Amino acid sequence: MAEIRKLGIVGAGQMGNGIAHVAAQSGLSVVMLDVAEAALAKAVATIAKNMDRQVQKGTLPAAEKDAALARIATATGHAALSDCDLVIEAATEREEVKRQIFAALTPHLKADALVATNTSSIPITRLAAATDRPGRFVGMHFFNPVPMMKLVEVIRGLATEEATVQAVAGLAQRMGKTVAFAADYPAFIVNRILLPMINEACVALQEGVGDIASIDAGMKLGCNHPMGPLELADFIGLDTCLSVMEVLQAGMGDSKYRPSPLLRKYVEAGWLGRKTGKGFYDYSVQPPKPTR
Ligand code: NAD
Repeated sequence: MAEIRKLGIVGAGQMGNGIAHVAAQSGLSVVMLDVAEAALAKAVATIAKNMDRQVQKGTLPAAEKDAALARIATATGHAALSDCDLVIEAATEREEVKRQIFAALTPHLKADALVATNTSSIPITRLAAATDRPGRFVGMHFFNPVPMMKLVEVIRGLATEEATVQAVAGLAQRMGKTVAFAADYPAFIVNRILLPMINEACVALQEGVGDIASIDAGMKLGCNHPMGPLELADFIGLDTCLSVMEVLQAGMGDSKYRPSPLLRKYVEAGWLGRKTGKGFYDYSVQPPKPTR
């Protein structure tokens, strides 16, 4: 398979602009597509601001920043992706949105173009079956923030061809990332292991095994984790944590994945973590105060 030189990215949100940033910095031509011009303008401004920070830190020469930004084009119509070697879909995490994107996108693509999805939770095999190219469809799961996080999970759907897996793994490496190869099971590798640990911290809190401060201090100092599980849950968003547990429970059919009732209660209260100012910690005070 020829080298991937031109990359399309559908969805210019948090993940899409991070992927565009790293790809352009690695020398690829990038076309970022979103439904709204405003989202594209915001994405380009975010990339420029994040690159400025790298220039200030001395990790990116100013001339390279300008060259990388010049490699990023934006578009709102799928025809702009017609000469891309790979398109990574990083749009809103709703299956019908992704299906509509693939239906509108694939008729414009080269016959041998690859399509990847950055989904965190939708089965790759099911999304692949909704396209005209299940063999050339693959999961490419980046982590947030993309410029900082070194991992990409490459997820093989049932029909994904080996050449597709190798092509996107090679690209991830050119983007400076380390690849973890995963089979298409619910939540792949990292979230499959991380979220049950966070959920268990919620169960321990619910049972009164420890309070929030003790649980987080225990895992930070006892296991050398950089963040405690409840602090990390607030960072991820408690609604996202709950939704991953629901995906694991439904997909595996095993009661060991049942979401903690206390986690569900925090979500019902609208205490979703940092993004709402309150989760397991209250962020309206400094330092953030445990809520239990
Ligand atoms: P986001 O809400 O920041 O961005 C989504 C973008 O998709 C928005 O700009 C929206 O306008 C755009 N969009 C919606 N419908 C579209 C369409 N039909 N065509 C083109 N663009 C469309 O979301 P995000 O956090 O960047 O997540 C994107 C994907 O990445 C999701 O599948 C998510 O599960 C996955 N993901 C997220 C994270 C994370 O930590 N945020 C980590 C790994 C993977």
